[in-house]
Amino acid sequence: MAIYEQLMGAPGAGGRVVLLCKTCKAPAEDAHSTTILKVCPKCGIPLGEWKTEAERDAELKEFEETIRRQGPPVMKMFKIRITSGENVGRWVGHRFGGGLVTDLKIRMNPPMNLEGTKYGLWAQEGGASGFFDGASVQEELRKLGLETELIQVQ
Ligand SMILES: [Zn+2]
Repeated sequence: MAIYEQLMGAPGAGGRVVLLCKTCKAPAEDAHSTTILKVCPKCGIPLGEWKTEAERDAELKEFEETIRRQGPPVMKMFKIRITSGENVGRWVGHRFGGGLVTDLKIRMNPPMNLEGTKYGLWAQEGGASGFFDGASVQEELRKLGLETELIQVQ
């Protein structure tokens, strides 16, 4: 019985906190059958579940106070760099379509496309993409046997 990872809060009008689904940003709703289950109406997933209304109110009150203290959420963006295998030090960016490359540095050392993904590995930091969901990209690359590090973009 808890607030799930998928529930997020954002400061709303008049100091109120709006409860949202982290995936699609739809407002959390009570489930049809019960008020001690909050769901995302779009994704259809539970966002929080409790044994009693008192438990729900206590947890949500604490959650909302934390959001109020923190202010608006800051979305962090990351670049991702390979830390294992033969491509160590390369940056994760978009796939490279070939074609005419005017940048000599890229022509000398072109990106390597990762088969089965939408990514290319760039030797040049300028080829790195910015990711808000760095952890899920890391997970996707780990399945291909690639270890990576997240580097926060300021
Ligand atoms: Zn949703």
